[in-house]
This record gives sequence, C-alpha cells and structure tokens, in this order.
Amino acid sequence: MGMNEMIGHEREINWLQAAMKQKRLAHAYLFTDNNQVKTKQLAIQLAKTINCEQGDTDACDTCTTCVQIEHGNHPDVLTIQPDGAYIKIDQVRNMQETFRYRAPDHITRVLIIESADRMRVETANSLLKFLEEPISPMVAILLTDKKERILPTIQSRCQWVRFSSLPAHIQQQKFIDDGFDQTTAHLLSQMQYRDELLQLESQEIEQIFQNLITWSKALLTGDESALLDVQVGWIANELEQGRIHSLIEILLIWLKEWMKKEIAIFTEHRSLRMRVKEENVMLAIDNALIASRLLHKMEISNQAVWEQMVIATQEMRKSKQDDWHMIIM
Ligand SMILES: [Zn+2]
Repeated sequence: MGMNEMIGHEREINWLQAAMKQKRLAHAYLFTDNNQVKTKQLAIQLAKTINCEQGDTDACDTCTTCVQIEHGNHPDVLTIQPDGAYIKIDQVRNMQETFRYRAPDHITRVLIIESADRMRVETANSLLKFLEEPISPMVAILLTDKKERILPTIQSRCQWVRFSSLPAHIQQQKFIDDGFDQTTAHLLSQMQYRDELLQLESQEIEQIFQNLITWSKALLTGDESALLDVQVGWIANELEQGRIHSLIEILLIWLKEWMKKEIAIFTEHRSLRMRVKEENVMLAIDNALIASRLLHKMEISNQAVWEQMVIATQEMRKSKQDDWHMIIM
C-alpha cells in the first residue's frame, strides 16, 4: 500500500508529498487523529516514500527498503510505543544507542512514536535533544489522539498534521466492506477509542459487542450476573487485557442508541425496550459517564469503577458524581 491509497486524506498527503518533493520535510511531525491505527499506517507509508529506492513521490511497495519498512524490520525505521502507562526514558536511550552511528548516505531515518501524549517531561527532553542534533538525517513522527495532552515543548517543535476523520456513515460502510456485521460496523464507526479493539480479529470484536449487548440487558434488568461478569467473568478478562476505554465507550454508545427511537439495527432487541423504563437507561448512562471519567484516573482500580457503576445503576441510586467518588475512594 502506498500513501496515495490512504483514502480520505488526499489533502494532507498531497501536502506531505509536496514538502518531500521540495526537500523541505520537517524534522518532526505531530500526526493527530482519533484513529491511531490509521495515523501509524500513514507514518509507515511516509517512511517508505521518503526512503523508497525508486525515489518517487509515493512508495513503490516492492523494493527491499519498502518491504523491510512495511514489515517493521528496517534498521533505520524505529517505532516506540508506551511500555505500560508511559513511554520510558530507557526506551528513548535504547533508540539513541541504536542510532549512534551514521546511517547510509541515501537513508533518512524515521522514528515513529505512538501515543506521544504518554511521555513525561524528562523523557520528552531527552528525545528532543536527540532530534535536534541527529547524527544522520532523521524525521520523527509523533502520533496521538489527544493533542491537548502533548507537552508544549514538543508541540512547539513539531509540524502539526491534523487528519480529519471520515464521516461516520462512510466509516460504517468501510467496516461493513471489511466484513463486520452491521451492528458492529455501526458501533465501531461511532467510537473514538476503537484502536484498542481493532488490533483483534473481527470475530473477536463481534463477540465483545455481543457480550456487551447481552451484559447491558443484565445490567438494566437488575440481574446479578452483571456484577459477576465484572468480578470474575468476561469483563474482568477484558479489563485485564487493557481494553478499558473502548469497553466503556461501547456501553455508552449502545445505551445512547437505545434511547433513540429510530434504531433499526436493534430490532432484535426490541422486546427489551418494553421491559426497561427509559429512566433506568438514563441512570445507566449517567453512571457510565461517571465511570468513564474515573477510568482516566490511574490511581483507581478499573474493576472497582465498573463494580460501582453496576451497583449504583441496579440499586437505582440517584447519586451525584461526588457521592460516587466517595464510594470508590
Ligand atoms: Zn520502494
């Protein structure tokens, strides 16, 4: 795949290709979009195009360099992603060690940094220092879906490329074309945090959505299996796998869709709507919103947040956010 095949981003790609043609590539780019799988793909395509042996404005995809970069084993194209919650300073040091000698003359090194918002000041400074005095020509591409969390020192040194997202209905059709069922495609197209999921096989993703839909029925009808699933069942397992934000997001989207009257895709669940009062769904949405805020606080156990969300919803507690907060702390 070359850059020109990345549908929907012609404007940004033309702009990068023009910079390349005029040999005016920046030393560091900040690619922002709510879909990091896509920005990573674009970063890889750019790395290929810059170094392609054919030397055109798009990657040939067949030369040794293109193939090595595509497969992630080119010695001069490195990717760093958070090790745990943050990108660690040792990861930056390892990169510096790897790049301590000059690259071959025709090579421009490319450093791709995923989730660049998850970098502390010390690590960022170490990285910036290296970028400013590279041993060989080098381009850094920082990726994030949370530009507001990128340290100002980094923002000021990067050229910002903002990839605007495709409209939801086009995204939905793309997911259907990729083989997803309609409900899954619809829910995926509404999501911000779908990267966590898109690493999985499509059947696994569909299974998670199906589990969540079944689980939400248990949640809303007061069934005790809702809490058990959080403690020892499939949700416990999902949380362990780190799919924390995507899971709460699917729940929120699903509950909100439920409140809308025109959801044709949910006809198979129509019977449920009769039994569940609208105010119960509203309460569940309120609690899921509280949960999604709390899940961003690292000091709180994710499982405890989910448990409290279930308990508050099933006990029909009209608690305010502060009350909830106190239960967990
Ligand atoms: Zn090539």
